[in-house]
Amino acid sequence: LPAHIYPNRRNSMGVDLADPLVLAPLREELEEWSHDDPLARPTLRAQRGGKMHPVCSPFSGKEVGGWVSATDKDIDLAIARAVAAQPMWDARGGEGRAQLLIKAADLLEDNMARLLDLCQREAGKSLPDAVLEVREAVDFLRYYACEARMLFGAPQPLPGPTGETNLLRLHGRGVFACISPWNFPLAIFMGPAAAALAAGNCVLAKPAEQTPLIAALAIDLCHEAGIPKDVLQFVPGDGKVGAAITSDPRIAGVAFTGSTGTAHAINRTLAQRDGLIGTLIAETGGQNAMIVDSSALPEQVTRDVIASAFQSAGQRCSALRVLFLQSDIADTMLEMMKGAFDAMVVGDPKDLATDVGPVIDQEAKDKLEAHVAEMAEEGFPVTRLPLPVNCKDGHFVAPTIIEISSILDLDEEHFGPILHVVRYPVGKLRQVIDNINATGYGLTMGLHSRIEETRKFVEAHAKVGNFYVNRNQIGAVVGSQPFGGEGLSGTGPKAGGPHYVTRFATERVTTIDT
Ligand code: NAP
Repeated sequence: LPAHIYPNRRNSMGVDLADPLVLAPLREELEEWSHDDPLARPTLRAQRGGKMHPVCSPFSGKEVGGWVSATDKDIDLAIARAVAAQPMWDARGGEGRAQLLIKAADLLEDNMARLLDLCQREAGKSLPDAVLEVREAVDFLRYYACEARMLFGAPQPLPGPTGETNLLRLHGRGVFACISPWNFPLAIFMGPAAAALAAGNCVLAKPAEQTPLIAALAIDLCHEAGIPKDVLQFVPGDGKVGAAITSDPRIAGVAFTGSTGTAHAINRTLAQRDGLIGTLIAETGGQNAMIVDSSALPEQVTRDVIASAFQSAGQRCSALRVLFLQSDIADTMLEMMKGAFDAMVVGDPKDLATDVGPVIDQEAKDKLEAHVAEMAEEGFPVTRLPLPVNCKDGHFVAPTIIEISSILDLDEEHFGPILHVVRYPVGKLRQVIDNINATGYGLTMGLHSRIEETRKFVEAHAKVGNFYVNRNQIGAVVGSQPFGGEGLSGTGPKAGGPHYVTRFATERVTTIDT
């Protein structure tokens, strides 16, 4: 079988929130966990103490828990212990590592309510989004466990003209730094770490400073599953801690997910240091577009545009930022979309009726508001949804639609509930694709069209990692829809796909003459 096909692998079932018999007890459990006051500390401490930083709810502003940053001494100790532990972890083999990753996945599922609670309180996620988040983390662990079994078992014989025995084996590269963003505080914290572990590396995992609590719990569960503490270490801290880890010449590779600017900074750090030549796997931002022509079904487009642009308050790397409407259908489409837009509920992410929750923090809110103000000042038509009164304490940004003349009017990704709309003339599809490509980003793209030639044309010319046709453009499924971009959106390989784990590994060949 090809390495990516695993007949016994199943994606996580998650939680059926539509079933009252499931929802009611889950709600009770969530209520119990909501009184918990968790702490996040580095796995190993070089010294006691340290300043406690608060973590606050994006919805209510209330303190949810606290974290202690890793110091330079902690980082030094963590790397030294990881370097020492790596040969033992590598020697454990793919099967031995897979068993522990699968146990960790099971423990995540067993602790679903605790994880959902933290996803909601710490990251402001809706319950459906939080369930998807836990499922994705579980899926990553199980998928990469399958990869560990398949790729790191017996050596691969390479027959050929030499008449010798040639054997190819994969090994871990050493110690990986896995640095993650706040918008998928569990799935993207866990996914790259699981892949690095599957390949036989030790891992220093740094969460975003906004979301260390759920990450700390995930690490505890991995340790409970039997992954040794020196092999997987939690290293909370801000960007300076990330920079300190990546600048250490003992770090063999960095798996980074976050903004394109930070990926450039890490790339420079790796290039400037001595010691190991570091591998960088970066999954970064996007300027994601959707193209809609006159053959599309308007109701379907409306539903998919609203989900792609506003679900998770637009805080998904895959989210729709620029909608291209063919000019002859633009007025009708905009009218329909504004109807659905007006019906969206903004508010408490704990309320199942809520469509759009808060953005992560005040800094994110200020940046988004500044962009909307600038666009309005420049004369672009802006439509905003009024914010309800219960949104006063949280970091809410009113969902916004801005009509612009070109995707090239935007200089960067605007990571929130803001949709830009461009009208394009009939017959100018090539120009649209060229402009999208000219942004340099290449993460997701959507197309609503019933014309096969159009689909093939876009597929052939768009430089984009994930292309979605006649559906929304968010929510890739591990194993079926490997995810990741190109150009300014990332280095590849795709997370949750058959080429990901091998990038964390080094190849060794033994040649034996008889
Ligand atoms: P970010 O500001 O780039 O931060 C990402 C991580 O990098 C955080 O843990 C951050 O630490 C750390 N960091 C900051 N400066 C660093 C440095 N110089 N060296 C090493 N680490 C450093 O991104 P974000 O705002 O958290 O996340 C949103 C971005 O992620 C968006 O651009 C989104 O598109 C992208 N994203 C991409 C994908 C994908 O799969 N392509 C998925 C999700 C998100 P602190 O936050 O603690 O300072």
